[in-house]
Amino acid sequence: MHVAVLGAGTMGHGIAQVSAMAGHDVMMRDIESEYVQNGLDAIEENLRGGVERDKVTEAEMAATLDRLTGTTSLGDAVADADLVVEAVPEDMELKQETMREVEGFADDDAVLATNTSSLSVTEILSALEHPERGIGMHFFNPVHIMALVEVVVAEQTDDGTLDLAHEFVDDIDKTAVEVRDSPGFASSRLGVALGVEAMRMVQEGVASPEDVDAAMELGYNHPMGPVELGDVVGLDVRLGILEYLREELGERFRPPQILKRKVRAGKLGKKTGEGFYVWEDGEKVGVSEDVMDQ
Ligand code: NAD
Repeated sequence: MHVAVLGAGTMGHGIAQVSAMAGHDVMMRDIESEYVQNGLDAIEENLRGGVERDKVTEAEMAATLDRLTGTTSLGDAVADADLVVEAVPEDMELKQETMREVEGFADDDAVLATNTSSLSVTEILSALEHPERGIGMHFFNPVHIMALVEVVVAEQTDDGTLDLAHEFVDDIDKTAVEVRDSPGFASSRLGVALGVEAMRMVQEGVASPEDVDAAMELGYNHPMGPVELGDVVGLDVRLGILEYLREELGERFRPPQILKRKVRAGKLGKKTGEGFYVWEDGEKVGVSEDVMDQ
């Protein structure tokens, strides 16, 4: 297939990499040549890491890089594409505008996918003249490591589009779960439900953050507990998703006070050095004091 990836950021370069590794010809587009280059460099670094760990051969690395082209031209990127995956920033207007522009350059039978993590795919596709060719393909970060892709079926998506999405996910050696377009899809809705209950338990003094996390890690084999995961994702990000899910799905997603207080205080988790835990140089070094005061 010819695959166009729009956006060379965190997700875009990962999607471009796994597509090229699977043997597809890939055009990766960003708005500035510097961003395109950063994305290409990140892919090369990932592949180099793979070679060092004996996961990728030198020949596979060279062939993958050969199949990849960077560009700032939207027309060049999508003109021959069988599949376009947009990974531009999470903004409804920008995503709709991008879809509209793509439709102007792409073949009539090209499938147009969005990697949105939280917006309505149905609403993004409503910008298209032929929305039946649109679908959600929700990848996870880091794309070259994470095995899941949520295939999000919008109101408008037709069977041919859905088949192509499944075929592509198989090709890149990942597992698809099919989800009807609805707030939080499957993964965020469940992950956030667990996270919000964990925060409420800490707030109510049921258990410390460490014990809540250990309960899930050791009792359910989760690789990381829900409180720590909130710190890693960013508490501001968690709060934003909760507010959206509460609006769409109801009070069970109401953000707990402890989360709002943390965000107001700028204690956003790993990225600011404190959330429910204290972090130093990216490592968890203790529990935040104002959690223990509850
Ligand atoms: P990012 O900010 O790292 O990258 C976005 C890139 O898009 C930037 O390089 C930006 O310059 C570029 N861009 C902006 N306008 C563009 C345009 N018109 N055409 C082409 N490129 C354009 O963001 P990200 O984390 O890669 O997120 C991208 C999308 O993926 C969002 O919808 C996000 O919700 C979704 N997503 C992110 C994650 C994650 O963990 N980061 C996981 C799943 C899904």
